Amino acid sequence: MTLFDRAAAVIPGGVNSPVRAFNGVGGDPLFLVSASGPRVTDSAGREYVDLVGSWGPALLGHAHPEVVAAVQEAAARGLSFGAPTPGEIELAELIRERVGVAELVRLVSTGTEATMTALRVARGFTGRDLIIKFAGHYHGHSDGLLAEAGSGVATLSLPGSAGVPAAFAAQTIVIGYNDLDAVRAAFAAHPGRIAAVITEAAAANMGVVAPNPGFNAAVAEIAHAEGALFIADEVLTGFRVGPAGWWGLEGGWTPDLLTFGKVIGGGLPVAALAGRADVMRMLAPAGPVYQAGTLSGNPVAVAAGAATLRLADGGVYARVDAAADTIAEAVRAALAAEGVPVAVQRAGNLFSFAFGSPGECGWSGPGPRTYDEVKAAQAWRYPPFFHAMLDAGVNLPPSAFEAWFVSAAHDDAAVEQILAALPAAARAAAA
Ligand code: PLP
Repeated sequence: MTLFDRAAAVIPGGVNSPVRAFNGVGGDPLFLVSASGPRVTDSAGREYVDLVGSWGPALLGHAHPEVVAAVQEAAARGLSFGAPTPGEIELAELIRERVGVAELVRLVSTGTEATMTALRVARGFTGRDLIIKFAGHYHGHSDGLLAEAGSGVATLSLPGSAGVPAAFAAQTIVIGYNDLDAVRAAFAAHPGRIAAVITEAAAANMGVVAPNPGFNAAVAEIAHAEGALFIADEVLTGFRVGPAGWWGLEGGWTPDLLTFGKVIGGGLPVAALAGRADVMRMLAPAGPVYQAGTLSGNPVAVAAGAATLRLADGGVYARVDAAADTIAEAVRAALAAEGVPVAVQRAGNLFSFAFGSPGECGWSGPGPRTYDEVKAAQAWRYPPFFHAMLDAGVNLPPSAFEAWFVSAAHDDAAVEQILAALPAAARAAAA
């Protein structure tokens, strides 16, 4: 009996998060037993250079010694107290130091909780019910946010999720990304009823699709003119694309609320919502919007997050950016050499690849700019590419609709191993 057979006998589908399954590429998922720096090791003892990075948290690479030491030290002092701790303040202060608009910070355990709570706060603050989200953006799996929610559901070819009451889904207006006319039209169709627009600061859950220049600023301006809030979901981009996330990298817009996750937990479950003090004071016990968590601000988890943010200095971002540039360009060149059409999709150091060309796929830019355009890509080229890379010891996300995650631990040897694997993978994609 394989580990996957055992898992499938006790866990639905054999995985505890659908993106870990190999439905999008075929085969059984790797079962990992350890990870260090840029590498992971599976249950058969085989080592891979990793470009999944725990789906984002591993900015410094896996098991950074100083982060592990901070976790061990915190764990030795106690695992959970159910009372305020100094470590929570430290993490909240580190977040605010980097992202000035995060005036107040509430720590939670998952990105799903962060966005779900941000919507509740926005509704409580504005007294309105409706939310605008963009097709292809993933904000976690709360009921109202699962419509056209990008990678996980796209890989499984699901339009949304069963089990979401129609009345909940009806509170979410889903419109096309990078389409300002659609934002204006939604506000015009529902005057005085929209509480907030939520957007991935730069979309990275339908592959990477950066916002058009000025898009975030214009959406924020429209929302504010209509008395609605602008929520920037930086769960994935926050503290990854730069020291102050996409907000810091792009500049020029002011969110009322932001959500963070992934990097701020350094590999343990920490996420946050943050933003304007008057809006954040809606949260209980300061205000009437309820939210709580037995393990919120868990002392071991915040120690990992604070250690990670303290270590994530300019040198870390420079290394991640440089490795991302090298890998993205090498993939493009390898595919070009085999005559495989591809668009390299970038948002800072995040990148993914959309197979196809504007002519073949009807893209409005050099690559896809919307979810419909993403879905028109030649995703069937990805499984053979993925498996050729895996055979050569490179662990990629098992879906054509995911970003690749580089870390500061991707040294020359790790990058060389990726580059060496590319020609055969490109040939597989061409076939
Ligand atoms: N928001 C974004 C932009 C994400 O990428 C994710 C997870 O991938 C989430 C929210 C949900 O976070 P979590 O998986 O911690 O619930």
